[in-house]
Amino acid sequence: MPSWWFQLLSWRSLQVENGRSIRKTAFILQGQEESARPDLIERVSFRTKAVTEVKKSGYGKHISGGIRMDTSGLPQSTESYWLQAREKTGFPPLKEDIYADTAVIGGGLAGMMSAYELSRRGRDVVVLEARTLFEGTSGKTTAKLSSQHGLHYAKMLKMHGRKKARLYFEAQEEAIAAVERLAEAGASCDFERKEACIYAETYEGKRELEKEARAYHALGIPGIYEEVDSPSERVKAKLRLPDQAQFHPVRLMNWLAAEIEKNGGRLYEQTRVVKTKEGEAVRIDTESGAVVTADNCITASHIPFQDTAGMYFSRLEPERSYSIAVEADPSQVQQMLLGIDGEKVSLRTAWVDGREMILVGGQSHKPGTVASTETCYEALARYAYRELGASRIHWRWSAQDFTSLDDVPYIGRLTRWHKHTYTACGFKKWGMTGGIAAAFLLADLIEGRENRMKPVFDPARSSGPAAAGRLAKKLSGDGGWMFRSHLPDTPLTEELPEPGSGAVVRSGAGLAAVYRREDGGINSLSGACSHLYCGVTWNEAEKSWDCPCHGSRFNVEGEVLEGPAVKPLAKMKLDDGK
Ligand SMILES: Cc1cc2nc3c(=O)[nH]c(=O)nc-3n(C[C@H](O)[C@H](O)[C@H](O)COP(=O)(O)OP(=O)(O)OC[C@H]3O[C@@H](n4cnc5c(N)ncnc54)[C@H](O)[C@@H]3O)c2cc1C
Repeated sequence: MPSWWFQLLSWRSLQVENGRSIRKTAFILQGQEESARPDLIERVSFRTKAVTEVKKSGYGKHISGGIRMDTSGLPQSTESYWLQAREKTGFPPLKEDIYADTAVIGGGLAGMMSAYELSRRGRDVVVLEARTLFEGTSGKTTAKLSSQHGLHYAKMLKMHGRKKARLYFEAQEEAIAAVERLAEAGASCDFERKEACIYAETYEGKRELEKEARAYHALGIPGIYEEVDSPSERVKAKLRLPDQAQFHPVRLMNWLAAEIEKNGGRLYEQTRVVKTKEGEAVRIDTESGAVVTADNCITASHIPFQDTAGMYFSRLEPERSYSIAVEADPSQVQQMLLGIDGEKVSLRTAWVDGREMILVGGQSHKPGTVASTETCYEALARYAYRELGASRIHWRWSAQDFTSLDDVPYIGRLTRWHKHTYTACGFKKWGMTGGIAAAFLLADLIEGRENRMKPVFDPARSSGPAAAGRLAKKLSGDGGWMFRSHLPDTPLTEELPEPGSGAVVRSGAGLAAVYRREDGGINSLSGACSHLYCGVTWNEAEKSWDCPCHGSRFNVEGEVLEGPAVKPLAKMKLDDGK
């Protein structure tokens, strides 16, 4: 009997201590029904307690040890806790032309794991990182290692069929097992097996969850679906997936970097690739003029910057999200939780500054489309005080990720015409398992080995009418942003910003992205993104210029923080003498 076999149980009511009835149904692992019950009772009584506390303490406020707090307890600067663990920095920039068997562009988890896997197989590998290793989204993630990717499998089953959806699940499970093996082999990365759980707070969400549970059943995914049959209860249903994991991403990447070097690989920082061209070999041009010639090239730059090859900017939707690390009773969060509706928060525990804290994530939005990004942090803080009884917020940071047109990453050859240039992107905020899975698939493709995951992730796959509809919607949305920001009657501020802040102002016929430095001077840049000329907007919390079309971001000097842009924002002189 296969290991994923489980029983379909009939609907039933289960009476619990406090008198509410809970319906527990559907897909419970064979032999685990009894052990699931005490946990269910415990979780439900916790939620009741949290709701009562909110009523007592008032919205956005919490009484803790006699101290009244509000949402102002956010740390002043935004910094990822994970990145504090970076062990070795200062890898040299590439200054001369070199040859390598495989060049990996991008030092995030997808790139580092691919480079590690290839170097382990005896390949001569170089990693080219535009900024500092790990500093991209992989250093600012939540680092759940899970095959449960929100509401995913019902949709994938419908779009791609049972075989591919099942393989997708297996790819994630294999990735978790791979990290566990690396941890056992010495990669000290706080790897810990944990149950994952998505939950619904509305009846509509509950119906979605039920659909997802049915897909789990069809795919043989060992989930446990539970319903709470009480209108007063905030959580209406949950879908649990046991035996998933969480870890520390930067600790793993520290280890990968050391292993790559041990295996003879070379790592370069401050080395932005601006162009790749495939001929006999792949020619890789960097910003400094140094050229890498490689037999194979992996673009693991989060989003491919090779615009004309595959038009990835039009097939990937960026989304930013926010995270805070809070001091609160960690026993409240015994699983890795993700709300599929309501405030849609993501919760996990982590050892932060020597204590077990709770990481709270959420407040997703398209980059460049929120008037004040500080409000996103404030909303998370309110949630933490209100729902978790947080006493202090230690860290806050944000990041973005890209989603493909059918919610399945693009992993494989960059286009069907490329023979030696590959990519891994579009992880939909699940690139921890996705990045690991990408490494195994890409290494096999480069070595000409069969890999059963190839058709699942093939970037040239056809995804049917739903994906086409999404593409049309995205193109019209991006087009809207592109033109709206350049129309002459666009309402833009006439005033220059306060010190430490930025604003887009009209200057002659164009837009200027103006940042007022603390010393009173101004940095004036073109307000048109260097990628495809959408108007950028000011991100107050991160002090950056963000492009709402394709997610490129720039610092106040105009330097590229995130692609697909590879060129800085042009300097611009204000023509009214301001
Ligand atoms: C808030 C948030 C929470 C998340 N939580 C989870 C989670 O719990 N579990 C999970 O599985 N996933 C999660 N994800 C998703 C996951 O973090 C990402 O999918 C993953 O980190 C992407 O890895 P990457 O290597 O593709 O990209 P990155 O980590 O961004 O690495 C890309 C690197 O390429 C470099 N680069 C870019 N352009 C160039 C160039 N032209 N030349 C050279 N280098 C270049 C960048 O500087 C960067 O270092 C989350 C994402 C977000 C935003």
